[in-house]
Amino acid sequence: MSVTADVVVVGLGAVGSATLHRLAMRGVRAIGIDRFHPPHDRGSTHGDSRITRLAIGEGAAYVPMVQRSHEIWRELESQTGETLFQQIGMLIIAEGDGAPSHGQAGFLGSTIAIAQSHDIPHELLDSAEIRHRYPQFQVRDAERGYFEPSAGVLSPERCVAVQLRLAQSLGATVRTGETVLSITPSGSGVAVETDQGRIEAARVILTAGAWLPGLAGGHISRVTSVERQTLLWFETDEPELYHPARCPVFIWQHGPRLEDYLYGFPLLPGTSGVKAATERYAGHTHPDEIDRVVSEEEVRTTYQLHIASKLRGVSDRLVKAATCLYTVTPDAHFIVDRLWENDAVIAASACSGHGFKHSPAMGEHLATLATEPAAAYEPAFALSRFGAAA
Ligand SMILES: Cc1cc2nc3c(=O)[nH]c(=O)nc-3n(C[C@H](O)[C@H](O)[C@H](O)COP(=O)(O)OP(=O)(O)OC[C@H]3O[C@@H](n4cnc5c(N)ncnc54)[C@H](O)[C@@H]3O)c2cc1C
Repeated sequence: MSVTADVVVVGLGAVGSATLHRLAMRGVRAIGIDRFHPPHDRGSTHGDSRITRLAIGEGAAYVPMVQRSHEIWRELESQTGETLFQQIGMLIIAEGDGAPSHGQAGFLGSTIAIAQSHDIPHELLDSAEIRHRYPQFQVRDAERGYFEPSAGVLSPERCVAVQLRLAQSLGATVRTGETVLSITPSGSGVAVETDQGRIEAARVILTAGAWLPGLAGGHISRVTSVERQTLLWFETDEPELYHPARCPVFIWQHGPRLEDYLYGFPLLPGTSGVKAATERYAGHTHPDEIDRVVSEEEVRTTYQLHIASKLRGVSDRLVKAATCLYTVTPDAHFIVDRLWENDAVIAASACSGHGFKHSPAMGEHLATLATEPAAAYEPAFALSRFGAAA
């Protein structure tokens, strides 16, 4: 039997849950569908913590989005009493302008430039000052730091749960454990076929994360890759050094290469280990084929290459490990675009490893695009930047 909706949101992770909430706030008849039961650990939105920062070294277009997102997190917290955002500051450590990351040649340099051009409060620290303030970071003499006090840590699972709950309380329908199989034109709208039925909608928003390339096909599948990442939590023998009051979230570019990259978090309430992770761009993994087990060899190598000589008091005793997925574009910028000429389907891939912090503002933007015919798409996120669709 077919049901109808104004808008169907496919995928209820970081971006989809925010989009559904914003649609419900507008009084739109919206249905959100997810193949799993969000928040879950199969996609890109799990692992206890995400970094947020205002000086977005990835590019100036992201600054208003993250500023709006910080407002929304605080609104959601005051509405629900939940803690979503802990403003404990962030330190980026690197030599000179840093190494390449997220599409920027020197990520530390591009972050500092954005902070300066947007008047974002920050401090620049030399290695002696870093050692004095943060003795847990064993920096080299040539390294320097960028400290941003307004940055901090978000709780991804809680953010998704809160937004889905609020969306439902405003009348949105949430259907979980249901997989969307296809999207086809139907009159001036869209027919959504799932493994459990059919929905007729005026508009569909695809926020399927690592499954978006497979679902959208065409140009998107050609310009994205899915990358397996690992997250590791280690015991520390000096827990006082990693208390959130003494330890900010950190990004450490400890060499000139893309892979000389470590980021991590202090001992957050409810966690028993220091979380540390790297970034890898190894291949084009399909989300359903990814190896979800972190091997002992991966743990050993990550510890030796990235942690042993850098994080004082962090032992090699593993507390927990997880895998997580990046959906990556060649320039590390998002994709937000119409899929069909008639605007009935909007696709959003807001990842490339840096999308969570922007997700509530992105949800607001997608809800606007779906409901206001005159709303403008952000040119920086257009698919056409990769050339014409083949
Ligand atoms: C290890 C790691 C660390 C990161 N660190 C940061 C960070 O510190 N700061 C930051 O800002 N960003 C970070 N990111 C990026 C950020 O987490 C992602 O950009 C964001 O979570 C992506 O959300 P999404 O909604 O696009 O995808 P997801 O949250 O994965 O949601 C997609 C949803 O679609 C559903 N779905 C897929 N196919 C279908 C279908 N056919 N039918 C129904 N449902 C479907 C899936 O089940 C899933 O729930 C990190 C990402 C990873 C993996």
